[in-house]
Amino acid sequence: MANVAKTDIRSLQIEELREKLRELGQPNYRVGQISDWLYKKQVESFEEMTDLPHELRGLLAKLFAFDRLELVRVLGSEDTTRKFLFRLGDVNLIESVLIPASPALYGEKSDRRTICISTQVGCAYGCKFCASGLEGFSRNLRANEIIDQILAVEREGGEKIDNIVFMGMGEPLANFDNVMCAIRIINAPSGLGIGARRITVSTSGLAPQIRKLADEPLQIRLAVSLHGATDNVRNQIMPINRRYNLDTLLSACDYYVAHKKQRLTFEYILIAGVNDGDDQANLLAQHARRLSAKVNLIPYNTVQGLEWSRPSRNRQEKFLSILRADGIAATLRSEKGHDIDAACGQLRLQTNRKERRQITV
Ligand code: SAH
Ligand code: SF4
Repeated sequence: MANVAKTDIRSLQIEELREKLRELGQPNYRVGQISDWLYKKQVESFEEMTDLPHELRGLLAKLFAFDRLELVRVLGSEDTTRKFLFRLGDVNLIESVLIPASPALYGEKSDRRTICISTQVGCAYGCKFCASGLEGFSRNLRANEIIDQILAVEREGGEKIDNIVFMGMGEPLANFDNVMCAIRIINAPSGLGIGARRITVSTSGLAPQIRKLADEPLQIRLAVSLHGATDNVRNQIMPINRRYNLDTLLSACDYYVAHKKQRLTFEYILIAGVNDGDDQANLLAQHARRLSAKVNLIPYNTVQGLEWSRPSRNRQEKFLSILRADGIAATLRSEKGHDIDAACGQLRLQTNRKERRQITV
């Protein structure tokens, strides 16, 4: 018989855990004890759950996996953006970025300790400016691997994280079920207890999944990576636009805002000579007005091996001023993290390249 991989205990919703424990004939209060160990005290093995009977700890260890992310590298310092590179159980690499206090990027109030997490190993969508797309797609992350990024970074940083953005490596909406499972655990009071309004999912424009997300009851935030205000520009840099063009994407966004209380955010990387012209700014303002969306402008981060560059500071500010003159709530992201390759997938790409060099010498 094939060896079926065990489910990690942190991939279970609280209700599923309750059900499993009931099947094992355990009293109901065990659910609270175990979820406290997992998400409040954040232990790393069943053995450490000292208020559970010894046999139960052994039984849980037989039934469930309890994997850990292995920290490979940390870049950055305490008071700037810090980037964490992790190895998964199967030697794949993923990364998470911790962004310290900064004025509101996605939330309404000032964002405090924000973590940017990955949802896949690599990415299949191949945007032309993005390091994550460069090496192709390997696999989806499981819910526990998504959650463990938060736990591991809290452990390293010694401080509670209160804001989550799904903007690391991968396309979250292409791993819909695992991402939603992780979000429910992150949000649950018996899980990490982080409010839905402090969780932002970013997508490159998977229109049908945006509609599916709109139908979910949780009031999480949505960021749409637009990066171009016409099909012409998006087609040049984002292959997904050939599947779901701008019209299709914007009507999925209409559907989303009709179903949710929060405003959505358009992410817009500014790339010199590609999408930074006044015409794009004017059209972007139109799209944002139609959806009452906020706009977050991000100067392009250089990716080794890619031909693009960021526009001058003057151009960036001109672009911003066109949006603002049109009454759009727009921000221009500061340089945070540029020096440590904070854009998604960049650290992993470097490490993969270095490891390959080491293997070939
Ligand atoms: N796949 C999803 C979420 C991950 S990518 C999406 O595309 O929305 C999320 C963000 O990474 C992009 O919106 C962009 O903000 C950032 N990003 C990727 N490559 C970048 C680069 N070279 N410079 C600056 N930001 C980049
Ligand atoms: Fe994938 Fe997002 Fe990068 Fe595009 S920007 S390749 S969708 S991770």
